[in-house]
Amino acid sequence: MKNSPLHILQSIFGYPAFRGHQAEVIDHVAAGGDALVLMPTGSGKSLCYQVPSLVRDGVGVVVSPLIALMQDQVAALAELGVRAAFLNSTLSAAEAARTEQMVRHGELDMVYVAPERLLTDRCLTLLEHSPLALFAIDEAHCVSQWGHDFRPEYIQLSVLHERFPHVPRIALTATADRQTRAEIIARLQLQEARVFATSVDRPNIRYRVVEKATARTQLLHFIRGEHDGDAGIVYCLSRKKVEETAEFLESQGISALPYHAGMTAASRQKNQQRFQREDGVVIVATIAFGMGIDKPDVRFVAHLDLPKSIEGYYQETGRAGRDGLPANAWMTYGLQDVVQLRRMIDESEGDDDYKRIQIAKLDAMLGFCETSDCRRVRMLAYFGEQSTPCGNCDTCLNPPVSVDGTIAMQQLLSCIARTGQRFGAMHVIDVLLGAETDKVLHWRHTELSTFGIGRERPAQEWRAIVRQGIAMGFMLVDHDQFGGLRLTSAARAVLSGAQRVQLREWHKAERAKKTKRGSLVTADLPMESVSVFERLRAWRRDTALEHGVPAYVIFHDATLKEIARSRPASLNDLRGIAGVGERKLDAYGAQILLLLAG
Ligand code: ADP
Ligand code: ZN
Repeated sequence: MKNSPLHILQSIFGYPAFRGHQAEVIDHVAAGGDALVLMPTGSGKSLCYQVPSLVRDGVGVVVSPLIALMQDQVAALAELGVRAAFLNSTLSAAEAARTEQMVRHGELDMVYVAPERLLTDRCLTLLEHSPLALFAIDEAHCVSQWGHDFRPEYIQLSVLHERFPHVPRIALTATADRQTRAEIIARLQLQEARVFATSVDRPNIRYRVVEKATARTQLLHFIRGEHDGDAGIVYCLSRKKVEETAEFLESQGISALPYHAGMTAASRQKNQQRFQREDGVVIVATIAFGMGIDKPDVRFVAHLDLPKSIEGYYQETGRAGRDGLPANAWMTYGLQDVVQLRRMIDESEGDDDYKRIQIAKLDAMLGFCETSDCRRVRMLAYFGEQSTPCGNCDTCLNPPVSVDGTIAMQQLLSCIARTGQRFGAMHVIDVLLGAETDKVLHWRHTELSTFGIGRERPAQEWRAIVRQGIAMGFMLVDHDQFGGLRLTSAARAVLSGAQRVQLREWHKAERAKKTKRGSLVTADLPMESVSVFERLRAWRRDTALEHGVPAYVIFHDATLKEIARSRPASLNDLRGIAGVGERKLDAYGAQILLLLAG
């Protein structure tokens, strides 16, 4: 059937088959049903409303809060030969009037509308006089007042149900916790909608946590060794660190841009645009950088500081690998991070309940960092999903060796007790090492029985033991004591010998060697295909510049990679590659064959 969803997927989008729940969702909405789609980033939510918009008569109206992206989304559809346009405040009155006219006459397949625009009388009246295929409400979690992206206009979108009861609605989001789900259903009046939910897992992301030593150099080696020329995001806690890190990477020949709330809106937007549109830009950002990134080929997300919660970490790392190709989530973290975040919570404005929740979230994050088991299993368990070891995280790939650390932990705990449970880790470790610092001498800690009992382990190892001790709940960082370590009641069983403690075997961090440059994307390509891939990328860059669209709008990395691997010799061979639809075959097929022949 010419108009069947599968035919549209293959001929227009150039993909051979639907993934996951896509086919079910599309059938349901195409038949006029309402749907709530809860699927993680990168699972292909857009097709869930794009295909039904094409199957059904009339215009698909897409409500999206991300004005900055509408232009790119529409450009991507235009590249596929889909008739799409947008209505938002960036248009002139004449441009808007032209688009409105096309909506009224059903001359568009899809129109993207900002929520505040949609809610105007003018727009609602227009829609009442236009043939409509469906309403898609993207980023539907924006209705949640307790969420991180609350948009007051989203609440008023219930008007769609009241004024257009016969037009199917599909709401989509990657935020799938139970409370948000309930709020979306209630506020958008989606009680009748079928709910489609999948696991929050992002199997193509490889999680890795490394001990912080020389964070910036570690980052540099990570990027050079595994992400040469790739796009990525580096998250830091402070603006100052963002600036310094971006400068440092630039000075090392990596194209890096800063992004934080202290910059002017204009320079922020400029940097975001360059990141979005160019190939291989690294953005160094505070968490202010997030919503509004819709780049499928972000190959890595690096954290130079510990995130405050697993939710935040999941969201931030989730920006990697939307295209389904392998991606890395990499973090360096150390004891100082824990102390700093604890202090930030303690000094925050919130009441005690608020602080308790934040501390619990931080503890969960710490547990994730210190686990000897699969990180993905931990993360999914946090979101209420059971799973088995993934084989794609650092602890699965290089299982840490577990050793009996009872004596070391006892030494540490008793040193904390004997120094009075008021000093930070640095001082406690100095005492264990028998270091005669001014502070040690001043407090006469040379006289303690624990002075020097830990000499056989280096300071780094003691810090790792402190972190594990905190993660295991034997001690905590006490804000009333300015970050001093205090024992919990759980410490007693260890001190008395009633409880044994298993620790991760500690190794001196390897000195960063001169790393070979490499890229994750091309890692599994045969040598001779890598240079073809690079040529295709260069061609894509020029073509994207010519058309004024982001590079990935021309072709995704996955498509270029497949072309480089299989070297199609004819248009017909090229047609068989995922991501090459009829329109793109017409537009670029000949150029690509020429490039491959050359
Ligand atoms: P989401 O909105 O859920 O984050 P997108 O709609 O942006 O995800 O899709 C993520 C990527 O997966 C896009 O590059 C898209 O083209 C691709 N994709 C989606 N569905 C399919 C499919 N059935 N086959 C191949 N690629 C797909
Ligand atoms: Zn794992």
